[in-house]
Amino acid sequence: MIQPNPESPINYLPPLQDHYDVIVVGGGPAGSTTAALVAEYGHSVLLLERAQLPRFHVGESLIPETYWPLKRLGLIERLKQSAFPRKYSVQFVSDGVKESAPFYFELYNQHESSVTWQVDRGEFDQMLMDRAKELGTVAHTSAHVTEILFENEQAVGVKCRLLNEDGGRTEREIRCKVVVDATGQSAFISSRRGQRDADPMLKKGTIWTYWQGAHRDSGKDEGATLIMQTPGKKSWFWYIPLQDDVVSIGCTGSMNYMFGKDAGSVEAVYDRELARCPAMQKRLMNATRCTDFFTTKDFSYYSRDGAGHGWLLVGDAFGFIDPVYSSGVYLALKGGEFAADAIHDALERGDLSGPRLGQWQPLYKQGIENFRKLVYAFYAEDFSFGMFLKEHPQYKSNMVDILVGDVFKPGVGDIFDAMGSVEPAMEVPLNRHAMA
Ligand SMILES: Cc1cc2nc3c(=O)[nH]c(=O)nc-3n(C[C@H](O)[C@H](O)[C@H](O)COP(=O)(O)OP(=O)(O)OC[C@H]3O[C@@H](n4cnc5c(N)ncnc54)[C@H](O)[C@@H]3O)c2cc1C
Repeated sequence: MIQPNPESPINYLPPLQDHYDVIVVGGGPAGSTTAALVAEYGHSVLLLERAQLPRFHVGESLIPETYWPLKRLGLIERLKQSAFPRKYSVQFVSDGVKESAPFYFELYNQHESSVTWQVDRGEFDQMLMDRAKELGTVAHTSAHVTEILFENEQAVGVKCRLLNEDGGRTEREIRCKVVVDATGQSAFISSRRGQRDADPMLKKGTIWTYWQGAHRDSGKDEGATLIMQTPGKKSWFWYIPLQDDVVSIGCTGSMNYMFGKDAGSVEAVYDRELARCPAMQKRLMNATRCTDFFTTKDFSYYSRDGAGHGWLLVGDAFGFIDPVYSSGVYLALKGGEFAADAIHDALERGDLSGPRLGQWQPLYKQGIENFRKLVYAFYAEDFSFGMFLKEHPQYKSNMVDILVGDVFKPGVGDIFDAMGSVEPAMEVPLNRHAMA
């Protein structure tokens, strides 16, 4: 149990007030970034996170553009001092065997932002929440928001269950001017309003686990993310090297292919796909699996409305595309930054309308579109990035810009004028057909 210590903003837990300027629901990267930066502006902020931190979370590989929101948060030095492996590049493998040359981000931009990190999300998310507290946020963990309070369509606060020192729970109603939904894939507001639309082209499922002692390439390649497609693009593996000689290795394919009624057990499906991916097998020759398997599915969706009177969505609560380009944490941090600026502006003007709080969202959606189109191309059966770039070498820099996360740069989406509409085949609904 955290003991009040007025000397340390991280450990000090002040008594809850009945009213704050802003309540942020969810203490992942999106929630903690929003809370930190709104508090830095001088507004009162309450952050409520249902888990105890540090908590386990998938999503360990960062992309270079995360540097900028992390710099604004004042966290670059802490990351440099951390044990998180440095990531200089991403390398793609096709047909389970054909290893392309790694994309070294610094070849395209000599700035230190081109070297990023592979993070343990328990530690990373704790670091972000600690920073939010240092900047003045009151953060409660084991605090489950059960309801967002609306009056005449205006969000006015939350109802939450807090953990008492004796292990019991107390229900509290706390009021505010702005509620930020940063609840990740739970997407609290849009799920309850029936406004969470799955992407029909990306009905995928993932199985992942952790290995110890897997082969790592040497030098700068030691911390590289590897993305390995299996033959026929039926599935792909991520390989994300973490600290303490652990590697996160996950496999993603269509829901039917991974979890259909004829697919077999989770372990059998994972092993089946490993057998189809010699490039991964050779890295696991002397490795031991060190955790159980984890699964998740149907994670690509959009929330129709991103903001309303007194509320807004940020991070995965707003939408999530697909993990292939490791864009999730970046979008959560960047969205948190955009949201904090918009909330400050709205509070200063006394205008808490949806268009004011969501003023950043049209640009944000354009950035997401750039990721989405590149994700579609990755899954499209008859599309090859190698062939495309051979025919259109002038678009290589646009592609690199998207891979590093520079998706808000004017003109970056011009690549899609040449690529045209490249789409994966529509997925069949889960369990209706036997495995292909
Ligand atoms: C298979 C897979 C692999 C991925 N790999 C990567 C990757 O390599 N790199 C990358 O950048 N991204 C990756 N992602 C995406 C990344 O994990 C997310 O985009 C990122 O965590 C989003 O941050 P967030 O703050 O929006 O949500 P989260 O990090 O999910 O945080 C939301 C928080 O809200 C809390 N919460 C939920 N409901 C309530 C409630 N009612 N009351 C209080 N608290 C609540 C949750 O406990 C949670 O801590 C991956 C995603 C998937 C599905």
